[in-house]
Amino acid sequence: MSFDLVLFGGTGDLAWRKLMPALFQAFRHGTLPADGRILGVARDDLSDAQYRDLIRARFDEVELAKRPSAEEFERFAQLLHFVRMDLSRPEDYARLAQVLRARGADVVVMYLATSPSLFTVACEQLAAAGLNAPNTRVVLEKPLGHDLASNRAINEAVRRVLAERQIFRIDHYLGKPSVQNLFALRFGNALFEPVWRRENIANIQITIAEDLGVEKRGAFYDSIGALRDMVQNHALQLLCALAMEPPINAHADAIRDEKLKVLRSLKAWTPQDLAQHVVRGQYGAGTVGGEAVRAYRDEPGVNPESTTETFVALRTEIANWRWAGVPFYIRTGKRLAEREAHIVVNFREAPHAIFRSPPGAVNRLVINLQPKDGLELHLLAQGQEGRRSAQTLVPVHLDLDFDKRFGSERVGAYERLLLDVIDGRLNLFVRSDEQEEAWRWVEPILEHWHNDSAGPRAYAAGTWGPSASSAMIARDGQCWSEEC
Ligand code: NAP
Repeated sequence: MSFDLVLFGGTGDLAWRKLMPALFQAFRHGTLPADGRILGVARDDLSDAQYRDLIRARFDEVELAKRPSAEEFERFAQLLHFVRMDLSRPEDYARLAQVLRARGADVVVMYLATSPSLFTVACEQLAAAGLNAPNTRVVLEKPLGHDLASNRAINEAVRRVLAERQIFRIDHYLGKPSVQNLFALRFGNALFEPVWRRENIANIQITIAEDLGVEKRGAFYDSIGALRDMVQNHALQLLCALAMEPPINAHADAIRDEKLKVLRSLKAWTPQDLAQHVVRGQYGAGTVGGEAVRAYRDEPGVNPESTTETFVALRTEIANWRWAGVPFYIRTGKRLAEREAHIVVNFREAPHAIFRSPPGAVNRLVINLQPKDGLELHLLAQGQEGRRSAQTLVPVHLDLDFDKRFGSERVGAYERLLLDVIDGRLNLFVRSDEQEEAWRWVEPILEHWHNDSAGPRAYAAGTWGPSASSAMIARDGQCWSEEC
C-alpha cells in the first residue's frame, strides 16, 4: 500500500518533537509502509534537502535510543519532502494538489499540526481543490475549539467536506500503551468486572501531574489553561475508559458509543458543586527537582496579570446504575511535585472486620500511566510480627511493571496513532459527539470562573497544588494518593 502523509505545520514544535520521531520509530520497526512520502508543509521557503537537514538537526534533541544513526537517517530522509504553502491562501492548494496527483497514492493523510484557527479554512480549501476523495484522511490535533460553539463550528465545517470515517480527532492519551492496557484490563479479563461498580468501589482518582512549566509555549498555554488543555480531553477520556460499559465488540463505533454514554451521564453542575467541587490554581515561584523556578506570570509569553489556571482539581459523579454516588476525582497541573499520571481505584472496606488493619488501609488498584507503566494491587496480609499481633493486617502490594515485561516491544502513542490513521483504524480517535459532550460538561466551569473575580488560588511550584485541593477531597473523608 502506498501513502502520502501531508504534515501541515511540518516545521512546528509538535512535528519535530513528537511526529517525526514517531514516524522514524515506525520506519525503524518496519511497520511504516515502505512505499510512502512524508510531505512537510509550512510557509518557509525550503527545498527538500533543506527540510531534511532541518529534521536531521532536530533529531539531536531526541533521546539517544530513539535517534537514528547516520545511515538510518539517510534512508528515512528519502521519504521526506517539503511543500511551501500558506494555508490561508486558497491559491496555494493547487500546488499541493499537483504534487499529490502526480503520484496518486492509495492513502492520503492530511495531518493538521497547525493552529486550530486554520482547521476550517484548510478543510474547505482542500475540498475546493478536490483533495477530499474517499482515500483522504484528515487528522485534527487538539484542542478542537475553545468552547462548545467553536468546537461545533469546526466539526460542522469539516463534516461538510469529509465523511466522519475520514476524520481522525487525536487524543494522544488514547494511544498510550498504558491506556490501551486499561481497556485490556477491563475487557480482556473477567476478574475485575464483577467488582467494577458502586457496591465495591468507594471512589476513583485520576491524576495527571507535570513537573514542567509552560516551557516555550507560554503564549499558547495562557490562552488555553489546564481545563481545556487536559481535563476536557485527556482526563475525560480516561474517565470514560474507566467507567464505560463493556462494548459489544472492539469496533470504533461500539467503543465510542459507550464512551459517549458516560459523558452524557456525568452529573450536571449546580452552583454549589461549582463552588465546592472545582478548584483552580496557578503556580507561583518555587523549587522543582532542587532548582528554583519562576512563577507562571513571569514565564515568557504569559500575561503578567494572567488568571489562566495551571491546576485543576474537581469531583464529579456519574449518574447511572453502575456508578451512582461514587466520587470521581480529577486532578491535573503544571509545576507539581512530580511528573506522574496514575489512576487510583479505592475499593470499599471489608463489610465486617474480624482483623485489625491500619487506619485508612483498603484494597486499592493503582494503574500507573506515566512515567511508570503498570499495575499495583494493594492488599492486606498477615504480617510477620509475632503472635501478639497475629490479628493485625499489614498492607502489601502486587506490582506489575509493563515496561519491564514488554520492554522494547512497546509502541509509543504517536507511533501507534499515525499507523492507525494510515491503516484507517478509528478505535483510538474521538468522535465529534464525544467531543461536544465533553465541551458541554466543562462549559459551566468556564462560565463560573469567568464570573468569579477571586481568580485561581496560588500554589508554590514543586507542590501538589493549592491546599483547597486537599480540602475538597477531605470533605468526603478521602485523601489524594500521596497524602494517605
Ligand atoms: P507551532 O510550533 O507554532 O507550529 C506551527 C506550524 O504551523 C509551523 O510549522 C508553522 O510554520 C505552520 N504554520 C503556521 N501558520 C501557517 C500557515 N498560515 N500556513 C502554513 N503553515 C503555517 O505549533 P505546535 O506547537 O507544533 O502546535 C501545532 C498544533 O498541535 C496546535 O493545534 C497545537 O494545539 C497542537 N498540539 C501541540 C502540542 C505540542 O506539544 N506542541 C501538543 C498537543 C497538541 P510557518 O510559521 O513557517 O508557516
